[in-house]
Amino acid sequence: MAEVRLDDISKSFGALTVIPKLNLLIPDGSFTVLVGPSGCGKSTLLRLIAGLETPTDGRVLIGGRNVTNEEPSQREISMVFQSYALFPHMTVAQNIDFGLRLQKMPKPERDERVARAAKILALENYLERKPSQLSGGQRQRVAIGRSIVRNPKVFLLDEPLSNLDAALRGQMRVELAQLHRSLGSTMIYVTHDQVEAMTLADQIVVMNGGRIEQVGAPMELYDNPATEFVAAFIGSPK
Ligand code: ADP
Ligand code: MG
Repeated sequence: MAEVRLDDISKSFGALTVIPKLNLLIPDGSFTVLVGPSGCGKSTLLRLIAGLETPTDGRVLIGGRNVTNEEPSQREISMVFQSYALFPHMTVAQNIDFGLRLQKMPKPERDERVARAAKILALENYLERKPSQLSGGQRQRVAIGRSIVRNPKVFLLDEPLSNLDAALRGQMRVELAQLHRSLGSTMIYVTHDQVEAMTLADQIVVMNGGRIEQVGAPMELYDNPATEFVAAFIGSPK
């Protein structure tokens, strides 16, 4: 079980309160998409879940366990960033393996995990290439591969497709949906792209100014937006 619960979470940077007091339940195995305008606190929320930020107040629970004071490496999560930096001098296989090698995992298990990730991401024929010999979409798949090999219970993805062109984004959307089906892990995905949100999510969280405007399935928000903001954001008339 790897539901994620945010319990009265708040976050301030000095005098700036970015998240006032927020409660959210992200169901185990869901594909939850956080949407909202730039600066509304999406990345901050993800970083709080990852443990890259400490909340000013409140608790983070993963799989029912209070992880508020745990390091990122203890949380069974993995984060894919918008600007995914691959090691240019390493092959695809070495890039995917890197984190496991740091953990000093035995080589046979590492090899097995890398092979499995490569299969899931259709990178089997690219394992010996360098990042410079890959397309943008393939590079992004390598970045996701580095997460998959760690077998996280929760995947955090912060606008992972925003540096790709429109055609590739469409293709990667399909691949992410397949990835979610094949792994069954909880996905928490940040985007400011409505189409991505509507097509990928089984639960959308609409944020505005550090607050949650509405949580619901895509068609619930579309058919029954709770606020003008949600209506405008999802694009349906209210
Ligand atoms: P989003 O991802 O929705 O665009 P962010 O979570 O990145 O929004 O940022 C929300 C707000 O918090 C912004 O006003 C941003 O400037 C501020 N912020 C984020 N991180 C920091 C930080 N480390 N120090 C100060 N302010 C920050
Ligand atoms: Mg952001």
